[in-house]
Amino acid sequence: MSPALASLTLAQMKAGLESGDFTARQLVEASLEAIARLDPLLHAFLYIDAERALNQAAAADRQPKATGRPLHGIPIAVKDVLTVEGMPCTAGSKILQGFYPPYTATAVKRLQEAGAIVIGKTNTDEFAMGSSTENSAYGRTHNPWDTHRVPGGSSGGSAAAVAARMVSAALGTDTGGSVRQPASFCGVTGLKPTYGRVSRYGLIAFGSSLDTVGVFAQTAEDAALIFSIMAGHDPLDATSSKQPLPDLHLPNDPSLRGLRIGVPREYFVEGMQPEIQLRTQEAIEQMRQLGAEVVEISLPHTAYALPVYYLIAPAEASANLARYDGIRYGPRSRADSIWEVFFQTRGELFGEEVIRRIMLGTYALSAGYYEAFYGQAQKARTLITRDFEAAFQTVDVIAAPTTPTTAFLAGAHADDPLSMYLEDIFTLPASLAGIPGICFPVGFDSQGLPIGLQLLGPRFREDRILSVAHVYQQITDWHLRLPALVKGDAAQ
Ligand code: GLN
Repeated sequence: MSPALASLTLAQMKAGLESGDFTARQLVEASLEAIARLDPLLHAFLYIDAERALNQAAAADRQPKATGRPLHGIPIAVKDVLTVEGMPCTAGSKILQGFYPPYTATAVKRLQEAGAIVIGKTNTDEFAMGSSTENSAYGRTHNPWDTHRVPGGSSGGSAAAVAARMVSAALGTDTGGSVRQPASFCGVTGLKPTYGRVSRYGLIAFGSSLDTVGVFAQTAEDAALIFSIMAGHDPLDATSSKQPLPDLHLPNDPSLRGLRIGVPREYFVEGMQPEIQLRTQEAIEQMRQLGAEVVEISLPHTAYALPVYYLIAPAEASANLARYDGIRYGPRSRADSIWEVFFQTRGELFGEEVIRRIMLGTYALSAGYYEAFYGQAQKARTLITRDFEAAFQTVDVIAAPTTPTTAFLAGAHADDPLSMYLEDIFTLPASLAGIPGICFPVGFDSQGLPIGLQLLGPRFREDRILSVAHVYQQITDWHLRLPALVKGDAAQ
């Protein structure tokens, strides 16, 4: 089938299926063809089930067109930290190799019930710990804009899959930036919902007070559709919220009149790539021309977000990862005693970064250090949350850069984990505060690498940030630009 079919937006796929321009089978075939052509270069996928997807598509085509199911016949991809019954789930780790979960994550299940066809599982940093997808035990994912560079992480596989138009939408997770940062690096739109908005049931836990399930798509409109289907209370996740979903009908009128945008001065720091500052300011200026009022704000505790996150997330991870003992899941090392089985399995099958986090977290939680590290971090987290609450008293949304640099070269941070952590400075505060964020493309740097703007909103106001992003996408086409590799340019 024509590769152009795979490049359609979700909305276009929906319209085409409904009007009978093409079938679900043709869509799935186009997606599989794009994967066959591009994934050998990108390694976005860890698992593909072509046969199952084709069967589901054929079944979808046999049903009458007006099913009332909003994603009827549309192929999607799912980050390999969310369970899908019948597919393996590795979380990018050797410790879960060959693990077949017995149930499907709520977020995925809701999409399937709406008619979506899960075509495969995408690559991730091991247990979603990382910012480059280089920490996957199954090899790195390459950035479709420049294959020598990383796609960001930890949801790098999903971001690359959408950027390369292998699927029109893919699920990711964002604990400290893992949807927004790869969206920025890959030039796609990425939505991180409010903490508690989308069920975590069936999500392999990393930092339970931070984990959120988000989505990558070409447009804010497509992200809104996926989000509206997966969001909402789930009795299977005790932290899932009962807050009703607002109307997600996005305005077509390209106006931002009446909107107040706050620009935090702490997010324009020395050492960040100047082009990011420039493109961010240009995008904000365009929003001002659309009628928005732009004011400078201060989020004074921003600088604490990095140390706070890198205490709280590893602390929670060290507890969550205790369950991987070689007995309950996946492979097991051979040893003479049960204790040695535990130690050897964990020592041999967890990667370096995961071991580093477990050690950091265990230390921060240990008697005598708990108050000084974990306790202090929790207090600072409250201050960061209050910064945002105070800001949203005076502004409707906050606009800021997503990352201090564009996509970096693979291996650039290999010897220095701290320098990798620094890549997260602009995404961590919103994660600690549990507020929603969206990242969408606002231009390129001089090397042709995408730059994404981050819009943050008050808790449960995904509608607001999605609407602003949608309005911006009505008057710009950055989000529709294609990597040369996808266009099939000779240059690649
Ligand atoms: N890069 C951050 C980390 O390594 C965030 C990861 C995430 O959001 N899953 O922890």
